[in-house]
Amino acid sequence: MNLLKDDFISTNHGKVSLKTILITDTDYQLQYFFDEVQLAMLQLLSSLATAALQPTIAELRKYVSDGVTEEQYDNKLSGMNSEWFDSGNFMRSIPPEGAKNPEAPITKLLSGIECGTSSNAIGLFSEIQNAEVICPDCTHVLNYNLHMNIKGECFGPTGATGIRGGGAISTLISGDTLRQTILHNCIATDHFHDYAQLDSDSNEQPMWISRLDGQVYLAPKIGLIRGLFALAYHVSFPIENESCICHVCGQSSDQSVKRFFREKYKGSYGSTKTGRDAGAGWWPHPYTPRSIREDGTYAISARDQNWNSWQELSSYIVGKETDKALVEPAYIVRQYQELTNPRRTNLLIGGNIADQGSIVGRVYDLFSMPASLKKQHSKVTQVIDMGLAQKEYLSIALNKMFGIGYDKNFVSGIKEQAIDHFVSNAQQIIQKILLDVDRKEAAELRKDAIVELKREARKIYSGIQRKYQHDFPLFKALVRGEFILNKNN
Ligand SMILES: [Zn+2]
Repeated sequence: MNLLKDDFISTNHGKVSLKTILITDTDYQLQYFFDEVQLAMLQLLSSLATAALQPTIAELRKYVSDGVTEEQYDNKLSGMNSEWFDSGNFMRSIPPEGAKNPEAPITKLLSGIECGTSSNAIGLFSEIQNAEVICPDCTHVLNYNLHMNIKGECFGPTGATGIRGGGAISTLISGDTLRQTILHNCIATDHFHDYAQLDSDSNEQPMWISRLDGQVYLAPKIGLIRGLFALAYHVSFPIENESCICHVCGQSSDQSVKRFFREKYKGSYGSTKTGRDAGAGWWPHPYTPRSIREDGTYAISARDQNWNSWQELSSYIVGKETDKALVEPAYIVRQYQELTNPRRTNLLIGGNIADQGSIVGRVYDLFSMPASLKKQHSKVTQVIDMGLAQKEYLSIALNKMFGIGYDKNFVSGIKEQAIDHFVSNAQQIIQKILLDVDRKEAAELRKDAIVELKREARKIYSGIQRKYQHDFPLFKALVRGEFILNKNN
């Protein structure tokens, strides 16, 4: 099986190849049980399409507007080393002699599922039996996901941190069809080259072809294709000749995979403290927004279970400067601004919420983007600003509770719950308002945001007032706060 040529992608039309998705008009939809696998698959397919097509920005613009022909695809493939992407080779390097090669059930690859005795590995699925056996085709997406999206800590001492860092947020452009999505996230080689400032002699071969050596992996030496599939583990998946229904894609297969072996690489990328301190530098993964601080560059990751992506949306599309850090959008968002987008697209924000070795939540959010993000990004950022302002007013109003001599923990508990509640409900409100981003003017969107977010903040505030109406000191403080809430709108 070859990942650039053969059918390994599970869709609503059965298993198909990357080529078929790119050259036909059929509306394929990915079919995987877990949203994290869907997210990994979109990244994997766009990275594979980058390797296959290696387009310039001008070529990519044409592919996005007109599609890819079979002839174009085959021509591109004949000019590259497609055998690198044979299933026996792809992202699988041979571990050094004497390696321990710890074994684990395949369940463990679905990020952080409890399947051992460790207390520090909370699963997100109630039944681990739901993911015990997979087909050989799905080993690739799980392996890719391990390298790109799973935090090393989830494997304890045998875990390694990949090129993107642990548990990084991904931003992807999501089109109306799978083909549009893949092409929108395909990387234009010339454009990326200007952006990434890699060395002119950077290595373009994948790490399973040209070995990754040394203690420090210098970012400027890692070329685009090498970085898109950068390794952190030597991995192998023993294949058993036993038929199964795959627990990841749901398709039947003559062979099955239940376990995997991994051995981590010994050196460090600039995504780790060791690598950063040794001057490895940050490899600009095209799907990761980054935060540039005095002591180095970091991948943006989700903060805690109450985190909601809308709060950071502005920084993911135009960047944001605070006193401590400069947040920069992922490369893919910049590239998107250089493409013409005849169809509606969304920004997909996804990733894991990790707490040390545990995955405690997942993010998979879509926000509608204007057809021209370059000219009209303020349509989005103004809506987000309204949400953040409303959150701030709510916070100031609730602060009135602190002046009445009540136990501080009690009062901040009430406040925290109210703010979390607002942040979580604002997510849907903002997603809904942005659905009209191409139909309405900026001022109108802003007005919608003010009306609806204010209503939401007031609803939450009145709820608290009702709850404490018989607690006179608290109630009085809340009435004073209400004045602030009203005045500020
Ligand atoms: Zn499968």
